Amino acid sequence: MEQSSLIKPVLGGAYPTISHGQGVFLYDKNGKDYLDASSGAVTANIGHGVQEIIEAMVKQAKQVSFVYRSQFTSDAAEKLAGKIAELTKGGLTYSFFVNSGSEATETALKIAIQHWQEKGKPKKQKIISRWMSYHGITMGALSMSGHPIRRERFTPLLESYPSVSPPYCYRCPLQLDQHTCGMACASELEASIRRIGSENIAAFIAEPVIGAAGGAIVPPDGYFQKLKKICEENDILFIADEVMTGFGRTGKMLASEYWDVEPDIVTLGKGMSGGYTPIAAAVMTKNVMEPMMKGSKSIIGGHTLSANPLSCAVSLAVLEYVERNELVEKSADRGNYLIRGLKKLAGKYSFIGDIRGKGLLIGVEFVLDKATKDPFPKDADVTNQIIELGMRNGILLYPAAAGLDGVTGAAIIISPPLTISEEDCAELLMRVDITFGQFNESIGKRSSQQGSES
Ligand code: PMP
Repeated sequence: MEQSSLIKPVLGGAYPTISHGQGVFLYDKNGKDYLDASSGAVTANIGHGVQEIIEAMVKQAKQVSFVYRSQFTSDAAEKLAGKIAELTKGGLTYSFFVNSGSEATETALKIAIQHWQEKGKPKKQKIISRWMSYHGITMGALSMSGHPIRRERFTPLLESYPSVSPPYCYRCPLQLDQHTCGMACASELEASIRRIGSENIAAFIAEPVIGAAGGAIVPPDGYFQKLKKICEENDILFIADEVMTGFGRTGKMLASEYWDVEPDIVTLGKGMSGGYTPIAAAVMTKNVMEPMMKGSKSIIGGHTLSANPLSCAVSLAVLEYVERNELVEKSADRGNYLIRGLKKLAGKYSFIGDIRGKGLLIGVEFVLDKATKDPFPKDADVTNQIIELGMRNGILLYPAAAGLDGVTGAAIIISPPLTISEEDCAELLMRVDITFGQFNESIGKRSSQQGSES
């Protein structure tokens, strides 16, 4: 019989086996500690081993193992929907629970289409999105994601949605000056709508702060207000993908709050349960839900594990924990502290091109030449090198795509749990400094080797 094997991200790759986690640290079975400066995948927002979450989990599991949402509702699911509406302050009063960010995207897509169908506009089926975006790995969500590396094996996808340039001011895709551009990238939405016809478009989707596809790219003020206005004028729903940014990650409960923009639909995931259980959601306003309430009476579709009481109870406990411990405010404070520290490191290392982000969603872009912003050659595989060095130095970093083509650039995201103390922030900066120092040495060695070879 052939030996069975777990499929790992890189087959045959060496992955330490996890022993346990506590606070912002993870420990492998050899006893080595890792400061989790990535919150796993920007997910473990409240850190590891939080006793009250574990208790909420056990309490719910003792009540019932699972109920199907078509047969029962549960206190946990009802309360969670209420908590989300309360915390997000706007009119996001209707929640639909799923199990992953990708499912939340798929759900949001279908909700937008169903919304227009029930309003007697069945042709409104298309979705517009941006290059340099990531909305999930399932075929529908990937079709909308402007993430070249994730897309390349599967193109042609269901339909190619991205058509709008991202607000990547560090390297403007339109080669314009940030101060005089008039936010031409946002105007591209108008051009796309004119080309496709608003009668064919259901929604526009965007991450308020671009995550994995760009490395914490923050748009300029006014950008989202402009996009929202264009959507409103053209009868197009605005979907904010807050799967990564939701629940305090950027120093606001939702990142959309920075620009006072109220999305019609918001997708949530990652921080929603801090990684303790799989759960995600598509939440929407009454305006979006109303035609469905009058027509089909619900949203078409769902997943077997949608709104399962265990995940809902855990998510509720996590959101209460975030609120009680004022983690949104802490995320803003600690983020400022880390950005200041990282900017100091940028003065020390010439390969740090840009430091950006909000709260504890911080991007660091690496360049060959700071003045020209030239990227490293693609085969230098800089992101992975730095991540591997970080692993050795006990610091977990998250890879992000960067560069105008989303392929040749190199970037990481630094996103520790929102619970990180100032002392651990200092430790984080120290481990990052060591890692960058070693990388610096390695490129110094490489260029001197190249020099002696030539
Ligand atoms: N949207 C965004 C903004 C994300 O960052 C991610 C995950 N990186 C997803 C959607 C997809 O979530 P999941 O991996 O849970 O399917």
